[in-house]
Amino acid sequence: MRLRQSAVEDVMLSQTITWQDELKTALRSNEELEAFFETSFAKTDYPIFIPTQLASRIKQRGIDSALAKQFLPHADENNKGGMLDPIGDHAYSPTKQIVHRYHNRLLFFPTSVCPVQCRYCFRKNELHHNDELFKPDFEGVRTYLSAHPEVDEVIFSGGDPLMLSNEKLEKCFDEFSKLKVPMLRLHTRMPVIMPSRLDQDFVALIKKAATQFELITIVIHLNHVDEITDEFKTVMKELRLLPIQWLSQSVLLKGVNDNVMTLKDLFLGLVKMGIKPYYLHHPDQVRGGMHFWLDIEDGRKLFAALRNYIPGHALPEYVIDIPGGHGKTPLLNPEGFEFNGQLLNKHGELVSYFLN
Ligand SMILES: *Cc1c(COP(=O)(O)O)cnc(C)c1O
Ligand code: SF4
Repeated sequence: MRLRQSAVEDVMLSQTITWQDELKTALRSNEELEAFFETSFAKTDYPIFIPTQLASRIKQRGIDSALAKQFLPHADENNKGGMLDPIGDHAYSPTKQIVHRYHNRLLFFPTSVCPVQCRYCFRKNELHHNDELFKPDFEGVRTYLSAHPEVDEVIFSGGDPLMLSNEKLEKCFDEFSKLKVPMLRLHTRMPVIMPSRLDQDFVALIKKAATQFELITIVIHLNHVDEITDEFKTVMKELRLLPIQWLSQSVLLKGVNDNVMTLKDLFLGLVKMGIKPYYLHHPDQVRGGMHFWLDIEDGRKLFAALRNYIPGHALPEYVIDIPGGHGKTPLLNPEGFEFNGQLLNKHGELVSYFLN
């Protein structure tokens, strides 16, 4: 008779679980969620995908926590307000895998698959988890780039580019290196969802890529200090030493991180790990995600107050995507170039610039 395995064996087994295995065992349905969390959830039109380690972390924090709200389905997702394409990407998409909105930088989508389904996602009405993982249209990219020599940065987005294996990413990097693109950027949520994705092969891949491009940037997407786990910190201790730039982007989300101290903890936590907060996005008015949206006035007050609590180098730029494809713009903006002689101070008060 086979005896129950020992605790030591349990640990040895858990160490052999790769990030790919973790994706295979992700929770994918209301039934699986309900069995795991021992409670019921609203049915929504949107897919469910939560890797098991993340699910355990959510369970520890509780299903009303900031972590839970980002990933667990909610009845409010069935509300019909909001837009299907809130930032108007489609107008700037010459091929299915490219968005070219700004003069010199191009978004490239090598996959539409993510390691998790964020309930606030601005692409939640477009992403399909059943899509094929990797089908890069290099021919389309080559043709487009040869007609657009002004592009000097290619930004891998998605989906999440780190869903691709290291081998496939290497193939992509080689391709853009041949096309003489000087700068390459990856936008990813993977390091916080599964820090184990940043394995030794990934380190080797980035070391090689750093010789192929003039600048490599990795932008990590996270929204709350609870996403900074010990495992993520440990992994970053080594990775921050790579000759690349580490940035973060976050979305301001009602009920998740819309208070000054929460944002302070997040941004200070990041700079201490060698990750510079880059963008704080005002939430987009996306169908199925309107319960995360908050008034622009409330966001501005929060952001103005942050200045008092964190140094300038830990402060991201607070931006909004203007619907209709007008692009990103700083949200604490002066709404015109005509200066009225007053400025907003750290308490959100208007004060005079000219003292006499
Ligand atoms: C945000 C964004 C970029 C990148 O903009 P940066 O300001 O360089 O970070 C590029 N293309 C599109 C369509 C974007 O929305
Ligand atoms: S990782 Fe990004 S693209 Fe993917 S579901 Fe989350 S917010 Fe959307």
